[in-house]
Amino acid sequence: MILLVQNSELYNNDLRAMIMAFYPGEKLTAMKPMDVASIGRELHNEFTLCFTALFDEKRTLLKIEEKAMVKFSAYISGDFTDRKKFRNRLKLASYQLLSEFTGRVLPWGSLTGVRPTKIAINGIRAGFSDEDIITEYERRYAATTEKAALALQVAKKETAIFEAEEIDTGRDYALYIDIPFCPSRCLYCSFASHPIASYKYKVPDYLKALESELQFISYVNRERRLISIYIGGGTPTSLGELSLDNLLTTATGYFDLSHLKEFTVEAGRPDSITAEKLEILKKHKVTRISINTQTMKDATLKVIGRAHTSEQFLRAFEMARNAGFKNINTDIIAGLPMEKLQDMDRTLSYIKRLRPESLTVHSLAIKRAASLREELDTYRDYINFDTKEMHALAAEYAKHMGMKPYYMYRQKNIAGNLENIGYAKPGMECLYNMLIMEEKTDIFGAGAGASTKLVNPVRGNVERIANSKDVDDYISRIEEMLDKKRESIGNIRIPD
Ligand code: SF4
Repeated sequence: MILLVQNSELYNNDLRAMIMAFYPGEKLTAMKPMDVASIGRELHNEFTLCFTALFDEKRTLLKIEEKAMVKFSAYISGDFTDRKKFRNRLKLASYQLLSEFTGRVLPWGSLTGVRPTKIAINGIRAGFSDEDIITEYERRYAATTEKAALALQVAKKETAIFEAEEIDTGRDYALYIDIPFCPSRCLYCSFASHPIASYKYKVPDYLKALESELQFISYVNRERRLISIYIGGGTPTSLGELSLDNLLTTATGYFDLSHLKEFTVEAGRPDSITAEKLEILKKHKVTRISINTQTMKDATLKVIGRAHTSEQFLRAFEMARNAGFKNINTDIIAGLPMEKLQDMDRTLSYIKRLRPESLTVHSLAIKRAASLREELDTYRDYINFDTKEMHALAAEYAKHMGMKPYYMYRQKNIAGNLENIGYAKPGMECLYNMLIMEEKTDIFGAGAGASTKLVNPVRGNVERIANSKDVDDYISRIEEMLDKKRESIGNIRIPD
């Protein structure tokens, strides 16, 4: 357990994120300085460390104590209330103290945000040289040169693709549809996903509510160009054949698809795929699917609650190829419980033989809404939190498969404090993955748990409008969800 003592909550999230980057999954208790006195020395000994931040208008004191003994401390000058100037300096100083204390260097240094490529994208836009951009990552955030170069490589790839595709922020938009059902719930899942067996009877009402939302989205965007549809969740293919067919008829029926550049459906769980469902996806002109195994070790699949075997994954992949899919992605996770480097090697060697068009490598994240968080004490000793070598191995395999990194993002409490990264063969990149990361166009979200992200290029910000995550709530309050969107985009109503 970690104790965080601070006399202001202004940087609470930043400090928590920085500490958690060193101690993923650890419990953290926050206190005010005046309450610390109530902790006796004995209790103090129970904390792995005590991190104190005492903010002052002129200078801020940071210190790390172990068993009530000060181990490292530092002062940062400047007015802490000037968040814009102070935040990065505070994070960097906190990172340096924690790094000294633990003896560890984190690959991304003091960067804890979701989009590490943002700095490189801004640098490219401002006309900075590659060298300047890399130095910025190293000096301001203490990121390693390797990660700085990776972020720059991805940022360049994204910029080139957006230019080649002539993406226009005002004219173009993307559509995301959420199907929050899966065959079973994975141990690490933090999404609003429900077992389809017990939610089957709600599907017709869910699809009905979804239809009103899709009709609304198509109407408000009738003058614009829909360039990407992404159906995710959850696992859309966990729907029965008839429901899946209905969903795709609705998803495509209301929209002008003449400008569509891609149409992705996550068929993530092999245990949800049938030849008939693949035919339905083909019939509706889905261009890209994702079939994921996460690992090829059956014992791990059991532990993580995926209810399918590696053999089922191989069969599903073959079925998809036979059905004519020419753009298939597959996901794997580094750092799964009980997995070692050789397990990752075995998984990747199977995947290489399948020749997918893209590979997404996630790092295990211990998210608040996941059962893994609750059961962490059971699994902690079996999780390989140092996934650096696994990621390096995946990068090697991706290179051999003719793929290059094209998008990435980071999460809190991520194993190895690394990143999730997508590799693809040239021309097989998923545009939606890049659009959502770089906030290049509006993305209209439909369904329970989906978020709409409206990009304001003038103000340079993004407005988020979230739907309810609860399926019943979404069904019964669909009009309220539409009203929330109306508030942001104007009170537009579909004429009767
Ligand atoms: S397949 Fe994905 S969405 Fe479904 S339970 Fe597993 S992690 Fe969650």
